[in-house]
Amino acid sequence: MTSRVALVTGGTGGIGTAIVKRLAQMGHKVATNYRNEEKARAWQARMREDGIEVFLTRGDVTSPEEAAAMVHAVEAALGPIEILINNAGITRDTPFHRMRPDQWMEVINTNLNSCFNVTRPVIEGMRERKWGRIIQISSINGLKGQYGQANYAASKAGMHGFTISLARENARYGITVNTISPGYIATDMVMAVPEEVRAKIIADIPTGRLGTPEEIAHGVAFLVDEQAGWITGSNLDINGGHHMGW
Ligand code: NDP
Repeated sequence: MTSRVALVTGGTGGIGTAIVKRLAQMGHKVATNYRNEEKARAWQARMREDGIEVFLTRGDVTSPEEAAAMVHAVEAALGPIEILINNAGITRDTPFHRMRPDQWMEVINTNLNSCFNVTRPVIEGMRERKWGRIIQISSINGLKGQYGQANYAASKAGMHGFTISLARENARYGITVNTISPGYIATDMVMAVPEEVRAKIIADIPTGRLGTPEEIAHGVAFLVDEQAGWITGSNLDINGGHHMGW
């Protein structure tokens, strides 16, 4: 297998950690960004205990300047980025009639504008080298909407438009661009939901359980594989059957 350089944004989070681990176990050189150095170094030490080496660089994905600096730091240390996983994301849930401008902007900036900020400094190199894998971690709620998540659902739906346009523009350059839409995964983001709400969500999932971060990482492993070169502009639903069809 060819060893590639991979950047996973938000790699220190629940799903990000599983993606970082899986890519490293596949033999790729993996990097991620952080905002809080102390927290990130502690995370890096835990990864080392599992035999996983990760390159860390400071960077807030909402800033075009910081995102570009982050990409340059990774490329200087590990080489050109060939796999990009736009995974960093947040929620700021509240019904739309009560939503403040900062709650709207923060979510759109973190989840959607970040895709521009991080992908833009990466894409030209991928086009020159004629190989690349770009995956956006979207969400089930970007497809079906959710009460209290007009900001989040809009940002996640926007990732699909971004993906299919980039897929068209770059298919002739050996670059595939896809989204993965996770259903509800047992990470801090979902465990922060009140227990009774979580129980209702689980009751609605045909498989009768939350997903695991490793199940999302498995989808990433599939899409970055050398043999997945004809899969582009696709969305991979990984949701236990919670949302089927279109
Ligand atoms: P976590 O909250 O566990 O992790 C989010 C990661 O993103 C953290 O590493 C966080 O870093 C980073 N991050 C957030 N904002 C920024 C920023 N401005 N700049 C840089 N990094 C940032 O979330 P999950 O692992 O659960 O989610 C990962 C992705 O999967 C998200 O895009 C989410 O929307 C999506 N998703 C999750 C689902 C779930 O059930 N958990 C379901 C569907 C989609 P820091 O530690 O600095 O905050």
